[in-house]
Amino acid sequence: MSFGLYLHFPFCRSKCRYCDFFSLTDAVPHEAYARAIERECRLREPSWRGRLAQSLYLGGGTPTLWDVSALRRAMDELRARLPFAPAAEWTIEANPGTVDAPLLAACRSAGFNRLSIGVQSFDDAILSSLGRVHSAQQAIEATAAAREAGFESLSLDLIHGLPGQTLEGALADLDMALSLGPDHLSLYELMVDHLESETPLSRDVASGAVRLPDEDEVFEMGRALACRAAQAGLTRYEISNFARAGHDSRHNQLYWTGGEYLGLGCGAVGFALDDPGDPARGGRRWQNARDMGRYLSALKRGELPETSSERLDGKTLFEEFVMLGLRQCAGVDLAEACARFQVSRCRREAIQARALPLVQEGLLQSDGTRILATRAGLDLHTSIALRLLG
Ligand code: SF4
Repeated sequence: MSFGLYLHFPFCRSKCRYCDFFSLTDAVPHEAYARAIERECRLREPSWRGRLAQSLYLGGGTPTLWDVSALRRAMDELRARLPFAPAAEWTIEANPGTVDAPLLAACRSAGFNRLSIGVQSFDDAILSSLGRVHSAQQAIEATAAAREAGFESLSLDLIHGLPGQTLEGALADLDMALSLGPDHLSLYELMVDHLESETPLSRDVASGAVRLPDEDEVFEMGRALACRAAQAGLTRYEISNFARAGHDSRHNQLYWTGGEYLGLGCGAVGFALDDPGDPARGGRRWQNARDMGRYLSALKRGELPETSSERLDGKTLFEEFVMLGLRQCAGVDLAEACARFQVSRCRREAIQARALPLVQEGLLQSDGTRILATRAGLDLHTSIALRLLG
């Protein structure tokens, strides 16, 4: 059974005002972090021995702030310790303003074949209000530098529902992104509620200092963006993700299909099944320390840097599988999922019965094998999954 490798690089130049991801603005300990990754890889490798990694995703933070020689050293160690499938997908995230063609060429030669650029918007006033450290022009230059460096798979991230953004503005952002010829687009809606922690922007919204477009406007933006992306030949394959043929994110699909992933790095999360051939037996999800000092010192002592670990039984994994499956446009093969997680016939029939009213409401459709959210249903996938699972 293959798995994916996620490597977290938790450093950014400054903190964006909407961001609740784990990222630090301290000086980057380039070499020390590479050594720590090497140590963690050596400690974890025995549990994954004999298996092929199908993808590597270097996310952050801003991984393109990592000194290239330290980055290359860490990547060489990963390659030496963990066998990768031929043509494995290697993605690195980048922020405009932190890259140029020579740096991206060095990332290519370190093994990365896919680049994901966090553009977010092409409106300089909005970028500045979000605390982004780059301009629209730098995003355009980063895209050109990526092609010059030889990246054949290029993804751009945009956010809609931003402060002061209109439907026309959101579409103008998308049109500019499309004019740069991306192979993949992630179109996210700005979230200020239900975050892991408060952000400067969520506080400003709560106090009324900043106004966001209302729910209906944001809904309309999402719909219009999805239509325009489809018209431009990018197929929606997940609620927020669109791709040209052959450019779906293989690493992210692993998350959406219950796949295992080895998380390395400060704050990284990993997931492993007890028995990769039998998901019904459950698995374990863990998180590494989010404190850099703690992460580095645990590894120096030769200890795993985990701060939490959660057991997940087969029932929980099945429910996650269905919930995440409904985020994907291909939906879920219910019979296959029930067999995979050894779900009883009685439960399967109860789910099928609960699917009927959802089909009548136009939120779900079924082709006899798979159940999938309709276009209207995709926006409501969480509540649909809750109704379905009972
Ligand atoms: S660059 Fe990304 S990870 Fe860093 S602060 Fe901004 S949104 Fe967060």
